[in-house]
Amino acid sequence: MQSIDFDTRAVFIAGHWQSASFGRTLPLINPSDGSELTQIARGGPAEIDAAVVAAQAALDGPWGAMSAAERGRILARMGARVTEMADVLARMEALDVGKPVKQGLADAHALARYLEFYGGAADKVMGETIPFTPGYTALTLREPHGVTGHIVPWNYPMQIIGRSVGAALAMGNACVLKPAEEACLTALAFARIAHDCGLPAGALNVVPGLGEEAGAALSRHHGVRHLSFTGSVAVGQHVQAAAARNTVPVTLELGGKSPQLVFADADLDAALPFLVNAGVQNAGQTCSAASRILVQADIFDDVVARMAERYKKLVVGPAIHDPDVGPLISARQRELVQGYLAAARDSGLRVAAQAELHDDLPKNGCYVAPTLLAPVRNDHRLAQEEIFGPVQVVIPFDDEADAIAQANGTAFGLVAGVWTRDGSRALRVARRLQCGQVFVNNYGAGGGVELPFGGVKSSGHGREKGFEALYGFSTLKTIAIKHD
Ligand code: NAP
Ligand code: MG
Repeated sequence: MQSIDFDTRAVFIAGHWQSASFGRTLPLINPSDGSELTQIARGGPAEIDAAVVAAQAALDGPWGAMSAAERGRILARMGARVTEMADVLARMEALDVGKPVKQGLADAHALARYLEFYGGAADKVMGETIPFTPGYTALTLREPHGVTGHIVPWNYPMQIIGRSVGAALAMGNACVLKPAEEACLTALAFARIAHDCGLPAGALNVVPGLGEEAGAALSRHHGVRHLSFTGSVAVGQHVQAAAARNTVPVTLELGGKSPQLVFADADLDAALPFLVNAGVQNAGQTCSAASRILVQADIFDDVVARMAERYKKLVVGPAIHDPDVGPLISARQRELVQGYLAAARDSGLRVAAQAELHDDLPKNGCYVAPTLLAPVRNDHRLAQEEIFGPVQVVIPFDDEADAIAQANGTAFGLVAGVWTRDGSRALRVARRLQCGQVFVNNYGAGGGVELPFGGVKSSGHGREKGFEALYGFSTLKTIAIKHD
């Protein structure tokens, strides 16, 4: 099998692999069995500073001078290379993050598709000419921000790198990427691929390290002109506050408590796989996980029974064996989720189904049994807080107005699904849902690289994915020329 050659203990700055100051490293754990895979560099303020300087130098050098078409060609080459190496990347992610191999493959192909999409778009972002006072010609230009910072979580490293770094590079920004300390390998592999595909030195720098050290240093660095943060609400607010001191715009892609609304006239055979998969995929560690299933009272028992059947068949196991559900990212995350399950028990919530954890699972793996809770009231803590584990709650509703009120009744607003055969209702409901994306008679549209994505309320602001991301990763300049 081919491999991607890089130094797991290094940071990647200005096209070079180098150690972090004082050779500091951190352990990287395989959550499927708790073993240490390797050590990674523990970058901090010094490495972040060097990376920002390298990125600025790239903008002042060949990268800044490159045509949009050439940037697009490099991104397209990177996409092709990611496709060739998809198996290797998926196995890396399985070991590092505990992501079942097929789900890692889907992430690798999504990363390739982002690079292809943004590579193709790089030379198609245009300004406008504006009808203005006679004697003037007025026009707009889309320009890169400059150095952009990208802080990425551990749950979908490849996809999030694709949608944020891919779009930023297409617009001609130079990037400093801080992957999550628990998920660095594919970010480093991506740096290697970018380098091999001809991305100029400094256009992409990768600094693994702790959030409070490397992440915080990136958020407050005065040389950064835009920040893209994906992660928790609390850290997102912190990053935005740090960026505000430098008057730097921030895109925040935060958490969710996304509902799927199932009306009595829905095609349940079509809906069922989406209702369950969107909750347990990636062991529920998905920002857009459909963690709340809202079901019309007439069909409530039937839907719960049919979801329960599916839960009982879910296979949980080490990611490299490609089960339906792998481990959670860490022992800490497992404890958080188990805490929610204990709270469910304490308040007498009914477990409608639970997948089995077999005795032969590695004992230091971070496994949690996928659990379906029904019925649950929408004001219960388990229906309000993001659990980030394979736990779904099923909530009954009476009519359309009740469904909309409950769907909108959390602090979040990321994604929603609507299942109905009534086209008018689908549109009516979709327009009243407070969130960034609504899917009708599907959920997630298979990832949808082309579809703008992001939240309202506590789910964040700004949009990534699709063409829209290119506007976020650029700034608009207006030029007014006076002539005779
Ligand atoms: P997190 O703790 O907020 O971490 C996200 C990133 O921020 C990591 O790279 C982390 O580094 C870094 N970080 C931590 N503390 C920091 C600080 N003080 N300053 C700057 N950076 C810091 O989130 P997580 O637990 O990894 O991810 C789960 C959360 O992300 C969930 O809430 C989920 O919904 C959300 N999420 C949202 C989306 C979306 O698109 N909306 C996608 C995926 C995940 P370290 O990990 O190295 O500490
Ligand atoms: Mg790991």
